[in-house]
Amino acid sequence: MTEREQIEMDVVFVGAGPANLAAALWLKKEIAIHDELVEHGLRHGNKVGDIEIGIVEKGAYVGAHILSGAVMDPIAIRELMPDFLEQGCPVDSVVTEDAFWYMTKNRAFKAPITPPPLKNKGKYIISLSKMCEWLAEKCEEAGINIFPEFPASEVLYDENEKVIGVRTGDKGIDKEGNKKGNFEPGVDLLAKVTVLGEGSRGSLAKQLTARLGLNEGKEAQVFSLGVKELWEIPPGNFSEGKVVHTLGFPSDTKTYGGGWIYGLKNNVISIGYVTGLDYLDPTIDPHAEFQKFKTHPKVAEILKGGKMLKYGAKTINTGGYYTMPRLYADGVLLVGDCASFLNGQRIKGIHTGMKSGMLAAETIIGAFEHGDFTSHTLRHFEEKVNLSWIYDELHPVRNFHAAFQSGRLSALINTGLQFLTKGMAWGFMPKEHHVAGHERMQQINDRHGHTDHSRYANLKFDKETIFDKVTDVFHAGVAHDEDQPSHLRVLDTEVCATKCSEEYGNPCEKFCPAAVYEMEFNAKSGRQELKVNFSNCVHCKTCDVADPYQIINWVTPEGGGGPDYKGM
Ligand SMILES: Cc1cc2nc3c(=O)[nH]c(=O)nc-3n(C[C@H](O)[C@H](O)[C@H](O)COP(=O)(O)OP(=O)(O)OC[C@H]3O[C@@H](n4cnc5c(N)ncnc54)[C@H](O)[C@@H]3O)c2cc1C
Repeated sequence: MTEREQIEMDVVFVGAGPANLAAALWLKKEIAIHDELVEHGLRHGNKVGDIEIGIVEKGAYVGAHILSGAVMDPIAIRELMPDFLEQGCPVDSVVTEDAFWYMTKNRAFKAPITPPPLKNKGKYIISLSKMCEWLAEKCEEAGINIFPEFPASEVLYDENEKVIGVRTGDKGIDKEGNKKGNFEPGVDLLAKVTVLGEGSRGSLAKQLTARLGLNEGKEAQVFSLGVKELWEIPPGNFSEGKVVHTLGFPSDTKTYGGGWIYGLKNNVISIGYVTGLDYLDPTIDPHAEFQKFKTHPKVAEILKGGKMLKYGAKTINTGGYYTMPRLYADGVLLVGDCASFLNGQRIKGIHTGMKSGMLAAETIIGAFEHGDFTSHTLRHFEEKVNLSWIYDELHPVRNFHAAFQSGRLSALINTGLQFLTKGMAWGFMPKEHHVAGHERMQQINDRHGHTDHSRYANLKFDKETIFDKVTDVFHAGVAHDEDQPSHLRVLDTEVCATKCSEEYGNPCEKFCPAAVYEMEFNAKSGRQELKVNFSNCVHCKTCDVADPYQIINWVTPEGGGGPDYKGM
């Protein structure tokens, strides 16, 4: 048995995204205020004192694995740090102009009024990766320990199923599973409270939710995939501060999807496309959908003469309020995207994620005050969420994504009605409400001629505007040591070579935006078999979500491996 060091902390945060960074910083600030009030007799209760706080992050540095649009609603950061601009928060631009385009194949119709949820004037265009790097500096200045290159690979429980911390991944294991010369066992980080803020489809959140049944009575989570490029374009092609959202081309009317273009400083734009991973047609390829979006004359005009700088892709949990798991259990809280705090209608989760972290911090102070880290005190987190502006924002859009599962037309009618009724569901909604994407994907033979095989026929990968997956992955700066076990655990590859091939045509080759999955002819067996190029993986988690048999399990690779999203 491997001997492991045990490090005792008070609170361990898993993942250095906006939710956990805000949580850790707020915890430090609020403890100082709480203790001072108690000391001066202005608040009843006990002092919390100096507690040891750690944040583990799987990326090589904080921000390395952070990918977002991003237009940030400043409501949460203003609460966290009212003088965030004076303190140097790296916002890129202020939104000065909004537009909403409905796209047909050749035309883009600008809506006379921007739909209220997509109004962004006065909000900030940011690189979330840069912002997280900056928030991490603020955390370190406040005395919070940050451990990059430390993936949490396992949740630790006591004999009563209480969470008592996390185990970090081992380093120096070769691809056969043997210890190499540089082997370093992961450590056990023990904590009174563990906070999971791993982002969309968190690997520990998935384990924990299944083990403790935190999804019981909740609707299935639904995900989308956002594929993004940063471009430098000629001056005058798109203004700084302009924000465009699109609907229509190239998505078909049964598939949820839309694009964005945000104008940053120095003639840089953030451009991307979101495809719902609850599509029906197994031949859909979200990366190709994005490339096709760029062929639209209106978009191509903006990109003309420009150069792609960076690429990335990441899932987004779009299910919303009804798909939120129970947010607490003994010794543990869930915040941010891994607990479904994103507002799917606005595709915004930075502000709600940060606020969820701050409310988690306030709950933790209560737990320390009472010396009780069980559900008995941690359940107050859910009450705090439901009494905060998070509820006011998420509850009225609780049926937004489900409406899209009946197609675009009914979704547009439903969205309008929901807006007028504070979110009530109407007759056009699918009966089952949110259905998990992998359950909706149709088998090839059941589509009765509905698959459009010419969907990507005219897509020419010229490597100037339209990129194939391998070229794009190069621009994601991905690196994994190849001599390690694959972190993409395909539980039964026989299914891939037989059933999946016949029934779905191996959709993993299409849905993965990083060319990780490839069916390759094996001369020995005389058939196509699965090859997993795990070193290409951009940690988007699409495979874990979209595989129709749910036999792909994404686990954390060796620390530091993955994309390099600096500035994304
Ligand atoms: C393409 C795209 C566009 C978006 N656009 C916008 C937008 O314009 N505005 C907006 O408000 N929101 C937007 N969002 C949503 C927003 O980015 C998220 O809601 C927000 O980042 C969630 O924050 P988080 O802290 O929960 O998780 P994340 O930002 O995902 O951060 C999680 C962190 O945890 C780390 N981690 C995960 N698992 C482990 C582990 N086991 N061990 C150690 N570390 C781990 C990850 O590496 C990562 O650094 C967008 C998202 C995407 C994908």
